[in-house]
Amino acid sequence: MTTTIRYDRGADGIVTLTLDDPDQSANTMNRAYAASMSAVLDRLEAERDDVTGVIVTSAKSTFFAGGDLPEMIRATREDAPALAELLGTIKRDLRRLETLGRPVVAAVNGSALGGGLEIALACHHRIALGAPGSRLGLPEVTLGLLPGAGGVTRTVRMLGLAGALTTVLLTGRRMRPTDALAAGIVDEVVATPTELLDRARAWIAANPRPRQPWDRPDYRMPGGIPASRSLAAQLPAFPATLRKQLKGARLPAPEAILATAVEGAQVDLETALTVETRHLIGLLTGQVAKNMIGAFFFDLKAVNGGAARPSVDVPPVRRVAVLGAGMMGAGIAYVCASAGIDVVVRDVTAEAAGRAREHAERLLARKVRKGRATEADARAVLDRITTTDQVDALAGCDAVIEAVFEDPALKKAVFAEVLPVLAPDALIASNTSTLPITGLAAGVDRPADFIGMHFFSPVDRMPLLEIVVGEQTGDAALARAFDLGRRIGKTPIVVNDGRGFFTSRVIGRFIDEAVGMVAEGVPAASVEQAALQAGYPTGPLALADEVSLTLIQRIRRQFEAASEEFLPLPAHRLVDELVDAYERPGRAAGRGFYSYDDGTRGRLWSGLADLATDAGRAVPFTDLQERMLFAEALDALRCLDEGVLRTETDANIGSIFGIGFPAWTGGVIRYVRQYAGGPAGFAARAAELADRYGDRFTPPADLVDRLAARPAEPAGVA
Ligand code: NAD
Repeated sequence: MTTTIRYDRGADGIVTLTLDDPDQSANTMNRAYAASMSAVLDRLEAERDDVTGVIVTSAKSTFFAGGDLPEMIRATREDAPALAELLGTIKRDLRRLETLGRPVVAAVNGSALGGGLEIALACHHRIALGAPGSRLGLPEVTLGLLPGAGGVTRTVRMLGLAGALTTVLLTGRRMRPTDALAAGIVDEVVATPTELLDRARAWIAANPRPRQPWDRPDYRMPGGIPASRSLAAQLPAFPATLRKQLKGARLPAPEAILATAVEGAQVDLETALTVETRHLIGLLTGQVAKNMIGAFFFDLKAVNGGAARPSVDVPPVRRVAVLGAGMMGAGIAYVCASAGIDVVVRDVTAEAAGRAREHAERLLARKVRKGRATEADARAVLDRITTTDQVDALAGCDAVIEAVFEDPALKKAVFAEVLPVLAPDALIASNTSTLPITGLAAGVDRPADFIGMHFFSPVDRMPLLEIVVGEQTGDAALARAFDLGRRIGKTPIVVNDGRGFFTSRVIGRFIDEAVGMVAEGVPAASVEQAALQAGYPTGPLALADEVSLTLIQRIRRQFEAASEEFLPLPAHRLVDELVDAYERPGRAAGRGFYSYDDGTRGRLWSGLADLATDAGRAVPFTDLQERMLFAEALDALRCLDEGVLRTETDANIGSIFGIGFPAWTGGVIRYVRQYAGGPAGFAARAAELADRYGDRFTPPADLVDRLAARPAEPAGVA
């Protein structure tokens, strides 16, 4: 088997272990690593008398990437014994390393996530190179896993139960080296690679016989060992974190992490390590981790890697014109300027345009306060944002992103006004959330350069960018929009044109279904709770208030005007009554499904039941959840059939990152594939919902065959 760790003993007796898997771009905790580490420990133990200390470092740009995800995604129940044995070997060797009786220092030269940080935690001292982009953390929870190479066991003993759970284990936070230092995960941060090794040697010289804190006789766990062995008794200590992490849904990974941490805190270290293995195997052989690894690793890699980008050379965008300084325009200006791109924001008055700058000032001030940016960084970003009410000020911009009101006539008018002053080959983009791109492009004389760049609110925080290709959009425009999206740190899915594209259309089904249930008479609180427990990050009624019922009403009317097939739904009646008769148009007005005092969400409006056709209607809780999930999934399948969606990967990524489809599913199409009984089981359940609740749930006739004919996973998983 390949040797992935080099062993070099210097004249001073210091052994440098260099992690360097020759077969991969990054080191991972695969079988070759396990075999190499065992061989290294055999040799270290044999040569111990000549060894003064050990430095663990890496020859790659990242220190160590983590687990062997392709192997994990394939793991079945039959693999459980072999996996347990492999994990046992990995942990035993890290234990041999920390009890060697010689100082062991981790010289963390780049990112150390998951397994990488776990190796470092088994060292007596951790020094991180403060490289830009370098991140440390245990992000396993975000993949439906838990850190199973000693990560739970050691962080709990280093930081205490509450500290470990809230700072690293349940958040999965990827920390900058300085944040890791503040959190107590590393001991030193240095500026240069030379310093990294010098400090490691110095520490070894000063600490000839170190022991891990937990191997000292006087060791006490920070915060104390909880008195009770019961898991439930520990829960009150972490309600806020758990609530945030679980969002009402019972997700297996956070629960397993909590159980591992609490159980492990009651027993000795060796036993705690086996507890960790048992819980990790449970997660590895379950479906949720596979869904999440599929989406959050492989799908994300395929999308960000440019699977949908045409391979044409295009010049990078240098100066962007943003039209409209509202919520979206201001956000777009900020993310562009933050990525080093000059921005000119135009609105109808200088005062309105100036709001884009104020928005950036607010976000930057917060960053500076939190130590995430220096005053100089903030100033540089602000200096890149110019605001104006003059068209001429946009002269020379080589891209325009329009974000004025959602009105096709207005959008056409602003394009006509500004295009003459832009660079002659400027990229022309609209941030419309629903209007077909082909129609908007018809109003400009260069439709090949016209494209949809649909951002999500709040722009600085939402990772998705939905790029919409109109009938006449050219490859160069797509490539430029894609490159711009990547530069500003977004994950760009590429979809074909259609009213509402993919995301706005599908989220509309979710809101319609939920509001429809309220209109039927299901208690509004039950609808919200059903969604949260299904794993949606926000309840649909809170979301509707956020979007504003007036906007929902306006978009629906545009749909109706454009389509003969549009069905009137009970949801539409309820929205119309709330807006027109009861003046409850949503959050911005302080009144919608909920009431808002001083901007915070209060109670659901008590008048809702009186507007329902059958107040107090009892619908099984599973039906409440599945009506929402299926409404979205069935429409996503239609988007695939109609060619709005080009790949399942885009559907999965777009649904999780853009519209909050529950993350444990691994995305909306994976949900269909993994439903109990597979696509056939999904189709049968959809038919049942259609019988009970209406034709909109009727599954596509040849759903099973069609899904069977498509590749389920992006290249690289198999
Ligand atoms: P907004 O109402 O906050 O801002 C619109 C801005 O456009 C206002 O500042 C207005 O003064 C300005 N404007 C109007 N006419 C103009 C003109 N002729 N020239 C320059 N500026 C002009 O709206 P918003 O929420 O930022 O939405 C803007 C666009 O983004 C819409 O098309 C919307 O559908 C889309 N969008 C919105 C969201 C969202 O969550 N709000 C998400 C994605 C896309």
